[in-house]
Amino acid sequence: MTDRVMEPTPDEFDALTAACVAFVRAHIVALDDHPSADMDGASEIAETFRESLPAHGRPLADILQRLELAFAKSFTTNGPGYLAFIPGGGLYASALADYIAAAMNRYTGVIKAAPALSQIEETTVRWLCELMGYPAHARGTLTTGGSLSNLTAITTARIARLPEDFLNGVLYMSEDTHVSVPKAARLAGFPASAVRLIPVDARRRIRLDALESAIAADRSAGRRPFLVCANAGTVATGAIDPLDALAELARAEGLWLHADAAYGGFFRAAEGGAALLRGVERCDSLTLDPHKTLFLPYGTGCVLVRDGDALHRAHETEAAYLRDVAAEGDRINMTDLSPELSRDFRAIRVWLPFVLYGVDAFRTQLTEKLALARVVYERLRADDRFELLDEPQLSIVAFRLRDADDALNAELLRRVNARGRVFLSSTTVDGRYTLRVCVVSYRTHRDRIEDALHALQEEARALGVERPRPR
Ligand SMILES: *Cc1c(COP(=O)(O)O)cnc(C)c1O
Repeated sequence: MTDRVMEPTPDEFDALTAACVAFVRAHIVALDDHPSADMDGASEIAETFRESLPAHGRPLADILQRLELAFAKSFTTNGPGYLAFIPGGGLYASALADYIAAAMNRYTGVIKAAPALSQIEETTVRWLCELMGYPAHARGTLTTGGSLSNLTAITTARIARLPEDFLNGVLYMSEDTHVSVPKAARLAGFPASAVRLIPVDARRRIRLDALESAIAADRSAGRRPFLVCANAGTVATGAIDPLDALAELARAEGLWLHADAAYGGFFRAAEGGAALLRGVERCDSLTLDPHKTLFLPYGTGCVLVRDGDALHRAHETEAAYLRDVAAEGDRINMTDLSPELSRDFRAIRVWLPFVLYGVDAFRTQLTEKLALARVVYERLRADDRFELLDEPQLSIVAFRLRDADDALNAELLRRVNARGRVFLSSTTVDGRYTLRVCVVSYRTHRDRIEDALHALQEEARALGVERPRPR
């Protein structure tokens, strides 16, 4: 029997599966009352997982018991109160899709191994293209996240636009661009001196005049400007660079225009979203993060390239041992659109919620998130103790206590988070400590936003910050 220990009998199959379902169910049904973070004793629990490789197995019940503690001592990133960094929630339907994908373990890197499953991936990418206003000749691939998408886009642009000896190339982006973009440039082979961080305007959008001067200066120095990365929703404040104007400039200058829309892109599906993100459909490539604004579990990113052939040319391969599974006609194996060969059947995680709920369910959610961010903005603006950095361009509100130093603002954040109903995070804007509320999770609704506002206002009072003239 020992040689069969890894293959459960039908009864064991049921018991193992039921135990995991019960484990997850207990967590999800209690999520509303779960603290928004619980880090008490987290390092002690972490220590118990510093263990040697076990020679023999243990019962699943014991293992789940250990995992329960491990999960408890963490930020509750799937809860309604998680308003830090960029949330998402993690749709349960996607978890089920993952379960099916992993248990069935089909190979989807090449079409011939599972034509219908490969088609599911192609269709899913096509749907994402449609949501972003991309044409039929666009192509894309599902990645593990925005960072890998940015890397794939920059590498594709480099191969499409620069010679093999590319070190003369220069990339431009605003100073508020996510760190994964300069990191992607580095990983794509560019030295730090190839990246220009361009200053932003009062609403934290890239300054076109500064961008134009930087490009001109590089040209006269004999450098080769080749790529602009626009932000379609910065991580600090949700700022959207002037995409239409950048598309004009990129065309005039012969530059590849990439948009990092990891956080912001899917708001194009919200009511009024196409106007907010006008011009995004003109960009040469787009980074999207379904694990943020499509509420999917972590590990789901996407990169779309307007000229699908460019993505293909950058990633196509020929290997003798894969000859039998070469794609036929105008079909392209996913592996020839991506740096990966073997990979999980990621697409089902995106596809299942779309077919189960329909795209309108996502539209409703995204529209609600934009409205909730407005509520936060209006309410804090009406309270003179708070200074708002900008009205929300998407669903992030950045603010600080007026006339208070960084330390007092940090203390406000600490106290609000310690109450356990919501979890916020901070950043630095213009060299000053800034709090932010980011409303994205599909589990976050008005009641939890009221909790956040209540906590902020009460803790500001507790800190002795006076409310000078309530309006
Ligand atoms: C989250 C984010 C990234 C990085 O994406 P990961 O999925 O975390 O790798 C890049 N850019 C922006 C604007 C983001 O919000």
